[in-house]
Amino acid sequence: MNDKGNIQTTLETLQKILRAEANCGFQNSGVIGGLDKMVPLWEAQAHKSRVSKGVAIEVSTLLGKYPLMSIDERETVVRNLSKTLKLAAKSDRPSRETQPIEQNRGIPESQLSLDSPLTMINGIGPRQAERLKNMGLERIRDAVYFYPHRYLDYSALKPISRLQYGEEVTVIGTIRETRLHKAKGGRIKIVRSLIGDGTGEIECSWFNQAWLQKQLRVGLQVQVSGRADMYLGKLVFANPEWDEIDQNALHTGRIVPVHKLTKGIGSKGMRRLMHTIIQSSLPYIHDPVPRELRERLDLSGLQDALYQVHFPKSQEGLNEARRRLAFDELLILQLGMLRQRSEWQAIPARSFEVGDEWRRDVFASLPFVLTDAQQSALDDVFRDVIRDIPMNRLLQGDVGSGKTVIAALVLAVAVRSGFQGALMAPTSVLAEQHYRSVCSLIEAMPGLGLGENKLSSIRLLQGSTPDTERDEIANGLLNGSVKLLIGTHSLIQGSVEIANLGVVVVDEQQRFGVAQRAALRAKGTNPHLLVMTATPIPRSLALTVYGDLDVSILDELPPGRQTVETRVLYPDERERAYSFVRSQVDNGRQAFMIYPLVEENSGSHVRGAVDEYSRLQEDVFPDLRLGLLHGRIKPAEKDLVMEAFRSGELDILVATSVIEVGVDVPNASVMFIESANRFGLAQLHQFRGRVGRGEHKSFCLLVSDMREVREDLFEKKSNKRLRLMETVSDGFSLAEKDMELRGPGEFLGTRQAGHVPLQMASLTDIRLVNSARREADRLFSRDPDFADPEHHLLGDMVDNSWSSGTGDVS
Ligand code: ADP
Ligand code: MG
Repeated sequence: MNDKGNIQTTLETLQKILRAEANCGFQNSGVIGGLDKMVPLWEAQAHKSRVSKGVAIEVSTLLGKYPLMSIDERETVVRNLSKTLKLAAKSDRPSRETQPIEQNRGIPESQLSLDSPLTMINGIGPRQAERLKNMGLERIRDAVYFYPHRYLDYSALKPISRLQYGEEVTVIGTIRETRLHKAKGGRIKIVRSLIGDGTGEIECSWFNQAWLQKQLRVGLQVQVSGRADMYLGKLVFANPEWDEIDQNALHTGRIVPVHKLTKGIGSKGMRRLMHTIIQSSLPYIHDPVPRELRERLDLSGLQDALYQVHFPKSQEGLNEARRRLAFDELLILQLGMLRQRSEWQAIPARSFEVGDEWRRDVFASLPFVLTDAQQSALDDVFRDVIRDIPMNRLLQGDVGSGKTVIAALVLAVAVRSGFQGALMAPTSVLAEQHYRSVCSLIEAMPGLGLGENKLSSIRLLQGSTPDTERDEIANGLLNGSVKLLIGTHSLIQGSVEIANLGVVVVDEQQRFGVAQRAALRAKGTNPHLLVMTATPIPRSLALTVYGDLDVSILDELPPGRQTVETRVLYPDERERAYSFVRSQVDNGRQAFMIYPLVEENSGSHVRGAVDEYSRLQEDVFPDLRLGLLHGRIKPAEKDLVMEAFRSGELDILVATSVIEVGVDVPNASVMFIESANRFGLAQLHQFRGRVGRGEHKSFCLLVSDMREVREDLFEKKSNKRLRLMETVSDGFSLAEKDMELRGPGEFLGTRQAGHVPLQMASLTDIRLVNSARREADRLFSRDPDFADPEHHLLGDMVDNSWSSGTGDVS
């Protein structure tokens, strides 16, 4: 009897541990020290209580290897063992039902999935769920992919006597004393505890958390993490994180995750919630990446990676996790692009007629001779559009390389072939400018069959277009009298329908997301698509960022272009810059003056366009004509200002980055940029491209707002990057140099892949990017429909991120 009772206890003890382990997401933390460490103890017990030898051996061999196993393997082992134990218990005492392992959780396993609401998890109540929802976390998927935004490394454990000022550490000790102090007449409450560890004592204080007085009982064993501070000549911890020793430490003694917070959830609370969520949901998350691929690329399993990214056990673990999660993002991105491309190409497009003779004539009608680069890009484009497979081409060309004429020519070919065309630009300033350029180019072109009044068939549509005109345009598009439509987002909004849309051109593609492109495309039946961008992206990246597109590059500027002389200026040289601007205006030129903000924030020294506009007009250039342009100005007014500048009624245009793209004012010769160090090089290069567009020698003045004017400090910081602007005038080399200098991730300014937001991956991790590309190609060519059961989950992931990841870049 005694034996039997003992057997039951022995088996049950182990069952309990296995259950705890399942609850911890198979992190080998179901028992302190790890499951393998308890093997000898259990063996001894099993021997004493006469657990069958077979069972005992199974347990000790499997658990002995447990730490070496992957999470998946651990899950299987825990399942199997618990079954074995259940059977053993039954055969020993058939009368009593043993609790199956899963029931412990209160959630039937089959019901939990990535799509389950967070409320399904034990420990997430309706109030917390509501708060999490406020941060966009509603389903398990949202939370699992809600990564910490940074980490505090409290993994360094130290005896109190060895603490040094300023270091971030964890100490373990016993609370010797806790007191509540009041300061400022009771308005400030400070809880002070003395914590000792045998080597010494250290004082910890917490402000305005009076309730801690009760929690921090004398005698309690705690671990405390924070930065060792100095107060009255003694080392102290101010507001450190703390945990009780016997709890699974989340806040101390480890690499501690730090999350973005929301109202009603503090940093500790958030950590606890995330821990609960991760632990409960990980066992139900299945790895979408086939095992064979994971092994080949030496990627960790998804559960493991997710656990480590949320609660890293070590820096290496965290790095491994990041690599794995980044790979997933890139793989999904590439798969999505491959699928999109093949979907587009599955529906035939209208094939255009180019014809050698017309081509010759039309080139002769242009106001200039095309550069070789333009010729070869046009060859690409024309070769695409004469086929009945839709063109999907990215035209990448530095600022001023002459992309507009390519757009005009492909629109002309569409019209000539009896179809309609649309051109979409990101701002109304730019749309109007395109309208003018395209009209003047088309007007001179032969053989378009547009009849007498060519220009009435080219229309401009933007937000400010009055309703009556809008209706008229809509009618014209339907009955075919309007051939070309040029405009802003308005093209894709509302009910515009283009009966016979043959080609779509999207300018400054980086400003639009894939959804907007798709919407424009959807105005017709699978039209040809040409997207144009001046953001110079190194070739290696272009393939990834625009993997669904073929790429043509204009790597040559039209002849006679002068390089824009660029100078980085110290803050105290600003006055000299002003006199330079004045001297250019005196010579009949115009100037742009760019500011990073619309309005200054109080407390910051960054200048805003609105205030600077008044100051410049009143104090610096009282006799000159200044205009102001920024995003908060109404469109109609914007147009007026822009027009005034273009026509020379304004000498200086004070603006924010709204001016960044495409604006063409040949008489402008100075681009002055305040706080230039706050912009990315790609953006600065764009600004600079606004000048040097006419025959006049042009200048770009970059004023850094770094306050230290000491040469060495000044040079060391971001100004080194700025200096590149002085020597490098070509956008592509600039991009590459910038990447070398700043390392991965920064060049594009955001972690944006043009389509899908990337949380973890950096597009400049070329090796990972390339391997994701290779694997995506392989996978997609073998199984484009994700039909293989091994690929089901991947297919789901692609669906998921491509339906929600609309990538709005602007
Ligand atoms: P971007 O590529 O920046 O859009 P644009 O198409 O606006 O460049 O062209 C910049 C300027 O260069 C325009 O004034 C355009 O008329 C002119 N241009 C374009 N191609 C040529 C060429 N082959 N020769 C001379 N000027 C050209
Ligand atoms: Mg352009």
